[in-house]
Amino acid sequence: MDAGAVVFPRAKTRQIMVGDVPVGDGAPITVQSMTITKTADVEGTLQQIYALAAAGADIVRCTCNEPEASEGLARIVPRSPVPIVADIHHQYRRALEALEAGVHCLRLNPGNIRKPEQIKAVAKEARDRNVPIRIGVNGGSLHPDLYRKYGDSVTPEAMVESALQEIAYFDEVDFDLIKISVKASNVPLMIEAYRQLSEVTDHPLHLGVTEAGPPPAGIVKATAGIATLLAEGIGDTIRYSLTSDPVDEARLGRVLLESFGLRERKNVDLIACPSCGRAEIDVYKVAQEAQDAFADRQLPLQVAVMGCVVNGPGEARDADIGIAAGNKRGHLFIKGENVAVVPEDEMVPTLVEWAELITEEGMDAALARAVSTRDAARRAAEEDRQRNLDERGDDANASEQLVELIRKKR
Ligand code: SF4
Repeated sequence: MDAGAVVFPRAKTRQIMVGDVPVGDGAPITVQSMTITKTADVEGTLQQIYALAAAGADIVRCTCNEPEASEGLARIVPRSPVPIVADIHHQYRRALEALEAGVHCLRLNPGNIRKPEQIKAVAKEARDRNVPIRIGVNGGSLHPDLYRKYGDSVTPEAMVESALQEIAYFDEVDFDLIKISVKASNVPLMIEAYRQLSEVTDHPLHLGVTEAGPPPAGIVKATAGIATLLAEGIGDTIRYSLTSDPVDEARLGRVLLESFGLRERKNVDLIACPSCGRAEIDVYKVAQEAQDAFADRQLPLQVAVMGCVVNGPGEARDADIGIAAGNKRGHLFIKGENVAVVPEDEMVPTLVEWAELITEEGMDAALARAVSTRDAARRAAEEDRQRNLDERGDDANASEQLVELIRKKR
């Protein structure tokens, strides 16, 4: 079965607009990230926003923690390629200033801005400007009253109650352009909080594992939390919170959504064989080189790097394009069919060249270009395949010898 045909039903939510980007009610799930510059540094922040947008971020958040940051936002917002969310921590005045600066969304942490009259003043202003607010509950900064109420611990119930309390304040001033997050650094806690929240509200949800930490553990934690919920149909927008270059956050967000079939492929999906006794190249090294070469190219293809021509083209026949090693040569194949042969050190540049050709001119044009080289490529692949089998035998991984050994020891 085509994996792309499996679709996870999504929880029904309302839709809000963050600038011109829809969030919720079946809109494509969006990727968010956050700048790590000082927002007062307008040029530096814009550079990072452009880098994040190029890496796949649909929406970018900037901190608004001081008056200079509000002023920075007034200069950044008109020049940003994507909608901007202002992250407000303790000062409700920064929220009012950020709205004045023209931001497309606010993020308020109910644990930090606690005075009802301040919350309502911000919501009123946002309502009049038609700007949404994310209620950003954070397990690490829960309102002290809720923390005490739930036995001096952070529970999913406490986090959900925090979000509902904030919604009640917003209701009082007739404001409902809301999205909600209930992030925690503890993955099971975060998952359960979102599950419970999804049961009691139809506002769109922003998913994330907060303070997930540096890669690779941070990536695993964030993916465990976000992916589990996406597979359950929960979530309308996501953010990886890593101790790493935010460009990585944006890239990972895209990769996750593309791998779920929740966003159209924009970047290369690189697959590679695990290598074995038949490999004729260092598969890890060549796959890494390919990953680096494709990193900043937006080519919506599945690309394969395979260690041998004996099984490579067949094992990766579903890939749009791939290359397999054999006798110091690279055997290029398109949809499993051998089309060209190049020296081993040209494997990665050749993959890039043909992937760009397919993207720009289409698969048929690429296959037409291969007409003159295809027969020779098939013959060369067969020669190198036979050579590998002659040299390494049918059992290159010595599996059968091991099986014999196991049997003998019984
Ligand atoms: S048989 Fe070839 S393609 Fe398959 S894992 Fe081994 S080297 Fe890679």
